[in-house]
Amino acid sequence: MASDSGQDRGKVVTRFAPSPTGYLHLGGARTALFNWLFARHHGGKALLRIEDTDHKRSTQDAIDKILEGLDWLGLDYDQPPVFQSQRADRHREVALALLEAGHAYKCFATTEELEAMRAEQRANKQPQRYDGRWRDRDPADAPDGTPFVVRLKTPIEGETVIKDAVQGEVRVANAEIDDYVLLRADGTPTYMLAVVVDDHDMGCTHIIRGDDHLNNAFRQLPIIKAMDQIEGGWPEPVYAHAPLIHGQDGAKLSKRHGAVGVEAYRDELGVLPEALFNYLIRLGWGHGDKEEFTRQEAIELFDLDGVGKSASRFDLKKLLNLNGHHIREADDERLARLVAPEIGVGTDIALLAKAMPVLKMRAKDTHELAEGAAFLFKQRPLEMSEKASSLLDDEGRQRLKLVSERLKSENSWTIEALEATTKALSEELELGLGKLAQPMRAALTGTTTSPGIFDVLVLLGREESLARIDAQAA
Ligand code: GLU
Repeated sequence: MASDSGQDRGKVVTRFAPSPTGYLHLGGARTALFNWLFARHHGGKALLRIEDTDHKRSTQDAIDKILEGLDWLGLDYDQPPVFQSQRADRHREVALALLEAGHAYKCFATTEELEAMRAEQRANKQPQRYDGRWRDRDPADAPDGTPFVVRLKTPIEGETVIKDAVQGEVRVANAEIDDYVLLRADGTPTYMLAVVVDDHDMGCTHIIRGDDHLNNAFRQLPIIKAMDQIEGGWPEPVYAHAPLIHGQDGAKLSKRHGAVGVEAYRDELGVLPEALFNYLIRLGWGHGDKEEFTRQEAIELFDLDGVGKSASRFDLKKLLNLNGHHIREADDERLARLVAPEIGVGTDIALLAKAMPVLKMRAKDTHELAEGAAFLFKQRPLEMSEKASSLLDDEGRQRLKLVSERLKSENSWTIEALEATTKALSEELELGLGKLAQPMRAALTGTTTSPGIFDVLVLLGREESLARIDAQAA
């Protein structure tokens, strides 16, 4: 395993360590983002570890979805992902080193025995935890061949203190930390052991994750301290446990609120990756009252000082507002390519890109862009919405005829010229401009909502515009 070489010493190394038992949901994506930003801000390394030791619940589909989600958010990693399941030998090696040095011990207690122990603790209203019955016992007491697990000998006296970069100083009495299992009876390493060994071997200097892991840190730290005593070179990482994300109602994030995969934000809500990126960093981190961040700004400004201590609330409306902002900032050609598949095969990208400046003024998501652009690619005769048809009554159609005649004599097909001509006509007819624009919009787009009517004329071009108007004119 490539642990940090001499030249990397002192460099920040972070890791994102998802368990591939489901999608990359918002909480996971935010943890990934914080780790990535912290590494990039400090010119360090961002690493990825897939914690796939739970064979029953880990799936290849989930791994693929997580990798795809990270890639979509633009999070790149400095090494290929580490797969925890492939490192069991190394985890075992550390457990045996702890055993040999007396920091761990063999426990021969049977399942029935432990169950009886817990039942008694329950009955006495005591906390249910392993009581250390094999901690100081001679393993020779167990008959040959008795199965055993390896447990960590955690300190009993004193307390463990973690100076968490988010939570501040947190203390736990060592008596509360149980002698938990490192190696199961079949020799397989436990998750708690695997995490610590991998973090060490990957050279992680900062462990940034959700505060649901804070309790684990108190169990993980004794392994680090013991290994440091045994072989040195096991520094304590800096922990940063970020508060969880809650739903709008303050309850834990439910599926309805956003505990779905990030791809659902792209596919169902039409969210741009930079908008979700921006939204997620603001969910628990802040820099003054600045709301909008480009990727580069986020890298420049992100640090753990700005991560708040209280839980943040997911707010869909805010996400969509930010999305609208990022859509307006986005490159037109890129947006055109993004929404083209939704409009249909063979969509003219150049025309779509030309339409983007007007379309994106009103859109909050990519689906709205696609809807707004649909008129450009409709075939004549245009299908009319019910509302559009109602505008094309006799009066509407007669007005279109007058508009058509006037526009045919228009030499310059620009917004300014078309606007001046149409306005002049409306004044001559003593009609509000809307009385001409409404039937025009219906004829040109088949709908009653569209970008400004003169933008529509210019985007469709002279020939197509006149053909659509004439198709509906009296
Ligand atoms: N695999 C754990 C999870 O997905 C994270 C472990 C860690 O960050 O230490 O919740």
